[in-house]
Amino acid sequence: MKFQSTRDEKQIKYTSAQVIKQGLAEDGGLFVPDTIPTLSQDDILSFCSLSYPELAATILGKFLTDYTYDELLKDCNTAYCESSFPNGACPLVKVNENTYSLELWHGPTCAFKDMALQVMPRLLSRALTKTGETRTALVLVATSGDTGKAALEGYKNVEQIKISVFYPENGVSSVQKLQMTTQDGNNVNVCGVKGNFDDIQTGVKKIFADENIACELDKKGYFLSSANSINFGRLAPQIVYYIKAYCDLLSLGDIQMGEEINICVPTGNFGNILAAYIAKLMGLPIAKLICASNSNNILTDFLRTGRYDRNRDFYLTMSPSMDILISSNLERLLYLVSGASETAEYMRSLNSQGFYEVAEHTQNAISESFAGYFADEGKTAQTIKDSCEKYGYLMDTHTAVAFSALADYRSESCDCRKTVVASTASPYKFAKDVYGSLFGSFSKSDLTALNELSSHTCTEIPLPLSNLSQRKVNFTSVTTPDKIFDEVLKFIEK
Ligand SMILES: *Cc1c(COP(=O)(O)O)cnc(C)c1O
Repeated sequence: MKFQSTRDEKQIKYTSAQVIKQGLAEDGGLFVPDTIPTLSQDDILSFCSLSYPELAATILGKFLTDYTYDELLKDCNTAYCESSFPNGACPLVKVNENTYSLELWHGPTCAFKDMALQVMPRLLSRALTKTGETRTALVLVATSGDTGKAALEGYKNVEQIKISVFYPENGVSSVQKLQMTTQDGNNVNVCGVKGNFDDIQTGVKKIFADENIACELDKKGYFLSSANSINFGRLAPQIVYYIKAYCDLLSLGDIQMGEEINICVPTGNFGNILAAYIAKLMGLPIAKLICASNSNNILTDFLRTGRYDRNRDFYLTMSPSMDILISSNLERLLYLVSGASETAEYMRSLNSQGFYEVAEHTQNAISESFAGYFADEGKTAQTIKDSCEKYGYLMDTHTAVAFSALADYRSESCDCRKTVVASTASPYKFAKDVYGSLFGSFSKSDLTALNELSSHTCTEIPLPLSNLSQRKVNFTSVTTPDKIFDEVLKFIEK
């Protein structure tokens, strides 16, 4: 299988190793496979007896055809091993008669990004060998909190890669800060920056765009790489768990082979829900994909009107990983339903005018598979409380946005098909807001919130978040946005 850009009419083809190494196409488009592999019902039945790493290697192998099954299995075995995922990779929990929570947060940082970031760096490391690259990949991350930690855990100790993470010194919670500053690994660096997230992102983007810097790094045997969620190497591992969830429903006897289910996903950059759509295109029996947003409901509007308009207010919410106005992966959906020339047109309009409006046939095609709903802060908090009281199920703020959206979809559509909700973070990852939603607002520190949430709900703090304050702090540097590259140099010359 080969890959091409979402904006390329001439169909220049790339191998999967090139795609994973390069991240973004030269024309600014995203890489997409030139065909979507298909699964028969017999294939799906046969998957039910596989372990998670075996299933992941099988599915990845359908897209990454220049990797051998043995290579993929080795990487998936390491990525999804028991010490990283002590409760299994992604347990499916029945919440009520027709609703299931697919818990994607049992990895090392308690959020769903682990599912992709545990395996993607290993695929990148192999891609370097496959493309004859002798330099070391230097991964730079600007983070507002969660992505940084997930990237550190994924890239640590991976061969031929180094990672340096920059976070706003006063802009992350104390839990997030401790998670990063206590990081271990022989190839990692963590540094606080005096400034807000935007200042840091701007600083890091400047480094990526600077040809002199690229040249200087090249002489030292390095090239810059990004851990960005637009990399196909991050998307592909996310297809796997939707197939796994379907197999689990079959094994439970809760569905018949071929029975259609719905999938509901709390959405930010549109990566996770796009992976579910690809699973549907492959032949997994999925009827509707319910796209759940918080108050930054640009996707809800888009799915209802066909107009994507980023000229709007931005809100900070208690589901911060969904506080996004540009959902990059939406471009892949546009490509899949309308082709490269239409997609290139929409992206030109977005860049020049800040909006685009899709053609009627495109909107109809999207509406056949997708429905969009959003939850404001009040509804999110109420959903956490209701779920705990009615079903004894404790969920985080992002997952609550999805459960609220699903309830709205069901009452509007009368579609009561069995639905798998992607649960994207442990409730403990956002303990302060979860506690506040259950018991009224909470003014003490977020480290205290972990303990209070645990004692008030009789649930356990996940291992990666417990004892944080007793762990050894390995990183104390702080810099300014204009000195980020100096810190990078210090790190690689160490
Ligand atoms: C990143 C993230 C999301 C959004 O996922 P996308 O793939 O960007 O749509 C939702 N919830 C949590 C907890 C996240 O970390």
